[in-house]
Amino acid sequence: MQTSPAAAPQATRAAREPELRVQGQAQCGEASAIPPLIQVSNLKKTYQTARGALNLFQGLNLQVEAGEMVAIVGQSGAGKSTLLHMLGALDTPSAGTVYCASTDVTKLTAREAAAFRNREIGYVWQFHYLLPEFSALENVAMPLLARGTPKRDALAAAAKWLSEVGLADRGDHRPGELSGGEQQRVALARALVNNPRLLLADEPTGDLDETTAGRVFDLIERLHASHGLTSILVTHNLELAGRCTRALRLESGQLGPLAYTPRTEDSGRQA
Ligand code: ADP
Repeated sequence: MQTSPAAAPQATRAAREPELRVQGQAQCGEASAIPPLIQVSNLKKTYQTARGALNLFQGLNLQVEAGEMVAIVGQSGAGKSTLLHMLGALDTPSAGTVYCASTDVTKLTAREAAAFRNREIGYVWQFHYLLPEFSALENVAMPLLARGTPKRDALAAAAKWLSEVGLADRGDHRPGELSGGEQQRVALARALVNNPRLLLADEPTGDLDETTAGRVFDLIERLHASHGLTSILVTHNLELAGRCTRALRLESGQLGPLAYTPRTEDSGRQA
């Protein structure tokens, strides 16, 4: 396992503190004492396909400070999910480094990567992927059980998290007995039950109607702030992207700032 020499564990843990998180956000011309939570350098990814090599990334760079909430938008096929997978040690690049929480995740063995993900990263996908035969409470407790937490403690922590996402009274429901928004809330509780530093969300509201999507996004925003998270969200929803601290567009294998023009009726309301 490779660890960034610049990144003392205390410093990155301190990134959870709100005042330090503000300091940690990119201030032009100001050197931050806290290393970025994510530092991607010269990332390359090539897929070998039946039609030949698909060079998705040919030198992508990204830096995310602790405490940021970054949206990534881009057309279907631009590589958003692939990028998220490489940030979260679910996939490996063809070249380049991905420092995440002081660790070069590209150097981890499969076993180390699994432990790293369990400890440092909460994932939410467009579809909840809850286990249908288990209750909401048991689903939330799974990551804790996977790391060896005694069942009683895991269920107690899961109950606390279900309460945080507003589902204290749904613990014994199976996923099939919950609405789409409730399922995604349970998935969020499961993603965060291990107190990760980083939340990676791939179209977390993409399968929900507009009102429910807005409520789930409100919840993500609240949890991001109250738990000192660093969050990266892939979304097609430009309005939700505009609510993040930074919004980037992935296009032609490169990330750039997102130029967003609010819808006409929104502009009218603001005027
Ligand atoms: P997005 O999330 O932006 O829609 P993806 O990251 O899912 O894009 O995919 C980017 C491109 O890479 C797509 O053209 C997709 O077909 C291709 N791709 C993704 N995974 C693989 C794979 N395992 N093998 C070959 N091509 C892949």
